[in-house]
Amino acid sequence: MSVLNKKTVEDLDVAGKRVLVRCDFNVPLDNGVITSDKRIVSSLPTIEYLVKNNAKVILCSHLGRPVAGEFDPQFSLAPVAKRLSELLGKEVKMAADVVGESARALANTLQEGDVMLLENVRFEKGETKNNEELSKQFAALADLYVNDAFGSAHRAHSSTTGVTAYLPSACGYLIQKEISFMGSALENPRRPLAAILGGAKVSDKIGVIENLIDKVDTLIIGGGMAYTFMAAMGYHIGTSICENDKIELAKSMMEKAKAKGVKFLLPVDNKVGKAYAADTENMIVDSKDMPDGWMGLDIGPETQKLFADALVGAGTVIWNGPMGVSEWENFAAGTIAVATAVANSGAVSIIGGGDSAAAVKKLGFADKMSHISTGGGASLEFLEGKELPGIAAINEK
Ligand code: AMP
Repeated sequence: MSVLNKKTVEDLDVAGKRVLVRCDFNVPLDNGVITSDKRIVSSLPTIEYLVKNNAKVILCSHLGRPVAGEFDPQFSLAPVAKRLSELLGKEVKMAADVVGESARALANTLQEGDVMLLENVRFEKGETKNNEELSKQFAALADLYVNDAFGSAHRAHSSTTGVTAYLPSACGYLIQKEISFMGSALENPRRPLAAILGGAKVSDKIGVIENLIDKVDTLIIGGGMAYTFMAAMGYHIGTSICENDKIELAKSMMEKAKAKGVKFLLPVDNKVGKAYAADTENMIVDSKDMPDGWMGLDIGPETQKLFADALVGAGTVIWNGPMGVSEWENFAAGTIAVATAVANSGAVSIIGGGDSAAAVKKLGFADKMSHISTGGGASLEFLEGKELPGIAAINEK
């Protein structure tokens, strides 16, 4: 089953229909004030399409982690309705509950082009349990269902998955973009396909490495996780972060890469520090001569060049995880160099969510990438080759 074949909002006949849209309005709040409306802004294309095409739009989302089964004003979506009204230039009617009397009454009075928002879906006990009864109650509000919450697509919840059993479904523009970039990269990439993986731990990325090793032409490992691989090669790694129980696994992955003809690159030099601290004394050392008592906190200049050269001519680059402790200026150069190389490679560039997405944005490279995934956990699971329940459940064309 290909994720590239899922119905999109444009495949639905939405005029005059009530369309339930699962959005990701999980916005940061400070005392009820939205501190970033990015997620609301990102949801506009799907909502505006539906309004323009005369749908009756019923939006829903989770917000934070309220105690399930209780209304808690701290986690109310009312501030989102207000902000969304401003952005759309029309009133977004706020329901006082999720699938109760208020939601049903409002849904029944919607006119074509109207927009309403349900309360936080996690106020309902059954939501995170993918409860069948709740799924039916969501479905009873609408005629059609659209999922546009990629960041929640790896969770089988009532509003992301269960509801699809009872309504025709499609994905919105946000999910469509995620699956078209990441799905194409995994199923039918422009080659050569290179993956750059970094971040602290091998254990967090085992699934990604195992899935990608069967698909990539080049696999580049940097960041803290590289030291487990260097230990597997028999190098001294000083006090660098290392997962001793993953050394055998690292060995077998390198053997697999070799057997498959995958070009496999590790750092050849490192910026090491005396301690795990932003202003620690530091120097550049070869990977073969790591001194005792020092830890690798970034890739070195030779490695920056090696990795950048490996990306020249790539058709597609997938990047997940920083090359060092990029939060600290002294150890950010490797991540900046890789971001620059990815941006200049001319390849289709896909940045997995979480830390690498944040690093790319903070360093000012966001516009230069083809796609920055919006879902941390969801994009990792996608790259692991796992079926995301919220996407699997969407009807195919
Ligand atoms: P992840 O969430 O797995 O992408 O890991 C990101 C984290 O890895 C960041 O907080 C980095 O500070 C950390 N990290 C990257 N390189 C190193 C390193 N060489 N040693 C320790 N931590 C690192």
